[in-house]
Amino acid sequence: MKFASFSVNEKIFIRPVSNNETNGLPISSIKEWSTNPINVNYRFNGELQGKLEGRRLLLEQLDVPLEEIHEHVENGYIKYHKGITEDNNALKCNRCGNNDEAFFASYPCARCSLKCKYCRKCILMGRIAMCTALVSWCGPKCKGPEIGNIEMNWTGKLSLGQERASERVVNAILKQEDLLVWAVCGAGKTEVLLSGIKQALQMNMKICVASPRVDVIHELTPRFKNVFPNVEVISLYGGSNDRGKISNFVLATTHQLIHYYKYFDAIIIDEVDAFPYSYDEMLTVAVQNAKKEVASTVLLSATPGKAIRVNTPTIKIPARYHRSPLPVPSFCWIGDWKKKLAKNNITKKLYNWLKKRLDASNPIFVFVPSVEVMKKLVTILKKLDGRIESVYAEDKSRKEKVQQFREGKIPCLVTTTILERGVTVPNLHVAVYGSEESVFSRSALVQIAGRVGRSQDYPIGDVVFFHYGKSRAMVEARAEILAMNKEGKELGLLNEG
Ligand SMILES: [Zn+2]
Ligand SMILES: [Zn+2]
Repeated sequence: MKFASFSVNEKIFIRPVSNNETNGLPISSIKEWSTNPINVNYRFNGELQGKLEGRRLLLEQLDVPLEEIHEHVENGYIKYHKGITEDNNALKCNRCGNNDEAFFASYPCARCSLKCKYCRKCILMGRIAMCTALVSWCGPKCKGPEIGNIEMNWTGKLSLGQERASERVVNAILKQEDLLVWAVCGAGKTEVLLSGIKQALQMNMKICVASPRVDVIHELTPRFKNVFPNVEVISLYGGSNDRGKISNFVLATTHQLIHYYKYFDAIIIDEVDAFPYSYDEMLTVAVQNAKKEVASTVLLSATPGKAIRVNTPTIKIPARYHRSPLPVPSFCWIGDWKKKLAKNNITKKLYNWLKKRLDASNPIFVFVPSVEVMKKLVTILKKLDGRIESVYAEDKSRKEKVQQFREGKIPCLVTTTILERGVTVPNLHVAVYGSEESVFSRSALVQIAGRVGRSQDYPIGDVVFFHYGKSRAMVEARAEILAMNKEGKELGLLNEG
C-alpha cells in the first residue's frame, strides 16, 4: 500500500495513491496534522472505535481499508500522528520516545520511494519509519459494558503488613497518585492489590496490571480471572489471542503498553525492577503514554532501585506473610576460587557445606556468576552426586530441570542468575559462589536470599555468600535484609522469639 499527503485549505490529509501517481507530499515533510472538527451526522464504524479507542496504532495493525480510516479522519473521528518527527535534523520516535541517533537506521523504503529512516528501538512492535502514520481515536468513547456489582472471589486474610499496604493502594488509585509498594520476597504482594482493583472497576476505571516479565503475566492471569469471575480479564503479551479485545481490566507485559495511548486510569507495575524495564527508557515512555494525563501508577518491588525509592511515595511490607524474619546471608571467604577452579578444585568450605545439605536431603541452589563457571563447577560437583544438574538462560531443558528439581529428582541445581526470581521450593538452601562478582548486584543478592524460607513449614534456611573479598553489593544486600527484619519487628509484623 502506498499513500501520499496533500493539502486543502491549509489542512493536510493523507490518502491512498496508486503506484504511478506522483503528486502529494511525503509524510516526512509534513509538520503535524491538525484534527478536523467532528461531524456529528457522520455514521462512524463502531467496531473501529472499539479497536482504536485508547490506543495509538500503525495503519497495518488495523484490519480496515485506508479509505475508511481516512473518511473517519475527514469527519473528525480519527487523528493521524507522525511516527517520527524531525526537528532541526534531530529525529524523535513518537511511539517509544527514542531520540538517540544511533537507534535510527536508513533503508530503501518501497512506500515513500525515499531513503527513509526507521526507529530500531521499537522495531519489535512493528516498524515506525519517517513515512509512517500512527492513528488514534478522537471521536466519542465506547459505552462499555454495564457495570454491575463487581464480585470478588477471595476469602483469604491479609496480614497486618498487607492490610496497611492495601489501604494505601486503594487511596493511591482513587486519588490518582503514585505509590511504591516495597514488599519483601514472600510478603504476598498480589493480595495487596485486590481491594484497589475491585474499587477501581466498580467506579468504571480502566486499570492495567503490567510486568516486564511475561512469566508474571502468565501466572497472574488465571489468578485474577478466578478472583474477579464477572469481569473480562484481558491478557496481552507477544502472540496473545486477546489482542483487539476491550475490557476495563488488562494484564500486559510492559512491551504491550506501547500500543495504548492515554487510556488507563491506573497502571500497576509488578516487579518494576526486573529486566528489561529497569534500564529501558522506552518502556518508561510507554507507561507514561498509556495512562491518562491524570492517573495513578503503583509500582511493586522487593528490590526497588534508588531512583524509584527516592522519587515515589512508599509503603513497605517489611515482613513475610508467615511472620518469620527474612533469612540473613552469611559471608564465607574462600580465597582465589577462580584459580582453584582452573585446576578443577573447589574450596573445602563449599564442599563441606554442600555435603551437609545433600546428606540432609535439602534442595539446594548454587548460584554462579557465569555459564563458564557453571560448566566447570557442575562437572566437579557431579563427582559428589551424579544427579546434580545446571541451568542457564539458553538451556533448552530449563523448564524440565526445574520441574525435576521440584520433584526432588535433582538434589542441587547450579544456576546463573536466571533463577533469582520466580522459583520457590520449600526448604530450599542457597549458596552464591563468587558472590563478589559484579553480576551479583544488591538487588540480585536480595532476590536470591529471598528464595529461602518462603514456606510456612520451613521458614528458615541457609543463604551463604562464598567470596574472595566482600563487595559493596554484598554488604548492602545484607544490611537491607537486616533493616527489613528490624522494621518488621518494630511494627509487630513478626512472631515473638
Ligand atoms: Zn520507536
Ligand atoms: Zn518511507
